[in-house]
Amino acid sequence: MADYKKETLLYEGKAKKVWSVAGNPDLVIQEFKNDATAFNGEKRGSWEAKGTTNNTVASALFRYLESKGIKTHFVEQLSPNEMLIKKLAIVPLEVIVRNRAAGSFVKRYAAKEGMIFKVPTFEFSYKRDDLGDPLINESHAIAMELATEAEIAQIRTAALRVNDLLREFFAERGITLVDFKLEFGKHKGEILLGDEISPDTCRFWDAKTGEKLDKDRFRFDLGGVEEAYAKMLEKVTA
Ligand code: UDP
Repeated sequence: MADYKKETLLYEGKAKKVWSVAGNPDLVIQEFKNDATAFNGEKRGSWEAKGTTNNTVASALFRYLESKGIKTHFVEQLSPNEMLIKKLAIVPLEVIVRNRAAGSFVKRYAAKEGMIFKVPTFEFSYKRDDLGDPLINESHAIAMELATEAEIAQIRTAALRVNDLLREFFAERGITLVDFKLEFGKHKGEILLGDEISPDTCRFWDAKTGEKLDKDRFRFDLGGVEEAYAKMLEKVTA
């Protein structure tokens, strides 16, 4: 295995750092931090093993999705908290797919939490922390040149396919996939699935008990945050 050395810090976000790779301009390393934030950075916390848990969960899920034909930025898990990935020009859209009502959907429409959707929903938020990541429709995203119509069509198809695959993957492990957020980016002209898929970016409910096993435990001070993340790691890697 080649030796990939972190070179320059390119970007530091709320939960990850991104490093250039010495001698390899097409790849970067994402390093998962132990920090957690919610409500656009207003709430902060951190715990031991958060970074390694999310990295290991995301690596396993990317491997699984790749094995099913989804094109992702994943190359390999380099260490407990580092992932080698293809460098992307990120499309500034958060892509959200929902199987049940929760979170902002419940707030916006006064829907009953847990309402099962016959058909999954699909939406975009404009990735802009300073604006609070507002909901954006496709025509606005195209007008703003955040993505082309063809790219949006491709992202939608990929996101819904990811939903089918992950829903089945988690159902087999006794977990209901309520909703999740994806990010896509371009690498050498190709749209790839990027970022991470983890308890930070998905809602996972225990299929039997309804227990929340994701970042909502942190967001709403439900307790047992570390235990919930550990449980999801165990489910995904078992
Ligand atoms: N999500 C995310 N990052 C964000 C916003 C949402 O990963 O900046 C995830 C969130 O964890 C949930 C899904 O996307 O799994 C839908 O989130 P929602 O729109 O309900 O927003 P929230 O309730 O998090 O404000």
